[in-house]
Amino acid sequence: MLQLLMLIILTWVPPQVAAHPLPQEPGELLLGYSAQGRPITATQFGDGPRKLVVVGNTHGAPEGNTYRLTIALIDYLRAHPDLVPPAVRLFLIPTINPDGIALGWRFDAAGVDLNRNMNTNLDACPENDWRTTVQGAYGLTADTGGPYPDSQPEIRLTRAFLLDAAGAIFLHSNAGLVFPASCEHPPSIRLAEVYADGAGYTYSRFWPRYNITGGMHDWAGSLGIAAITPELVTGDQMEFTENLAGLSAVLAAADQLLPLPEDGVVAGQPVPAPLFRYWRALGGEERLGLPLEPPRVTAEGVSQTFQHVRLALSHAQRDTIFYVQSEPLGVAVAAGRAYQNAARDSSEVVAAGTGRLFDETGYTLDAEFLDFWQRGGGLASFGLPLSAQFRAPGTDGRMRTLQYLERAVFSYEPELGVRLEPLGERLLLLEALQAPTAAYTAR
Ligand SMILES: [Zn+2]
Repeated sequence: MLQLLMLIILTWVPPQVAAHPLPQEPGELLLGYSAQGRPITATQFGDGPRKLVVVGNTHGAPEGNTYRLTIALIDYLRAHPDLVPPAVRLFLIPTINPDGIALGWRFDAAGVDLNRNMNTNLDACPENDWRTTVQGAYGLTADTGGPYPDSQPEIRLTRAFLLDAAGAIFLHSNAGLVFPASCEHPPSIRLAEVYADGAGYTYSRFWPRYNITGGMHDWAGSLGIAAITPELVTGDQMEFTENLAGLSAVLAAADQLLPLPEDGVVAGQPVPAPLFRYWRALGGEERLGLPLEPPRVTAEGVSQTFQHVRLALSHAQRDTIFYVQSEPLGVAVAAGRAYQNAARDSSEVVAAGTGRLFDETGYTLDAEFLDFWQRGGGLASFGLPLSAQFRAPGTDGRMRTLQYLERAVFSYEPELGVRLEPLGERLLLLEALQAPTAAYTAR
């Protein structure tokens, strides 16, 4: 039955994006779009340093009361903005799963359970690690975890928006209890206790019915965000009074309950908190390499060079999904090669298979490269392909299959799989070569 439904959905043509209205209410921000093009919005109250995000509805139509509750909380806060203390900037997202609401089910448009799709492999608890086969509603087992961690657009959007969060409240229904991130994280436990006490719900250290993998609260907790899942008692009532009391209790003790994001130290280098969380969530040392320098203050914000990337934080992009981005280091590399080796490129091009064609640039990503691109964050992480695959020496001088992208150069060899060429190292080398020569070395 599920396969049949998914087949219908996959072959169904979504409605025009333009049919969905864009945000028009005060304080409402457009975060991005669902797979079927529906807007996902947040409404902001306050502008303090401690970012608290309430994710209303994740599980679509069966938990529609969490959506209506969040809308009601937004309406209430518009009339009572003083409820948000100066230390807090609060965001309420009515739903990250508008497609599930429209389709009348728990999953996203592709049939994935968004609360089983996150990369929960970063904490010290293997039992909550992401997997495809999951336990869902009522503990029923199904392959609804998605094809790989953080595969779904709604989850990637949530991941990017929460990078600098201090606290996260993921509303669900209907079990009538509040539980924190499952791996030991005292700030999450404290937050769950206070919310439960305020709302009059039962606090539970763990979700008692079955093992949750890939859960959003566990992902958030692993990055140091105080993260909880309140489950409304009913499946159809908003339980507005209860949850307003729970949220109010949290806001009243925000300084104690919402820990400011902590900077990291990697290979002896300090890494500012949002960059550190991005680096961890998007692949860490294995994919992005180690930091090669301390963070630099720039006109836009902060940047830091790692072996394979340069990450940049932009103050102007705070509270958007573009707050931290990987700089487009591949563009210059591709341009330089096209200039120098244009004549050789065509003879070296590896025959294209049946990958994904990008109309924007006319190039295709195939096989291992396409898989790596998708798993590593796709367009946001690596950008568009700027060349075909070709055989050439990599930075280490060994022959490899390479492909240029806007924010990376992909490199493949059978023993190592796909790696990123060390564009961060290359950039620092170029900068050193171009630096003004000291006077005493002048001839
Ligand atoms: Zn739920």
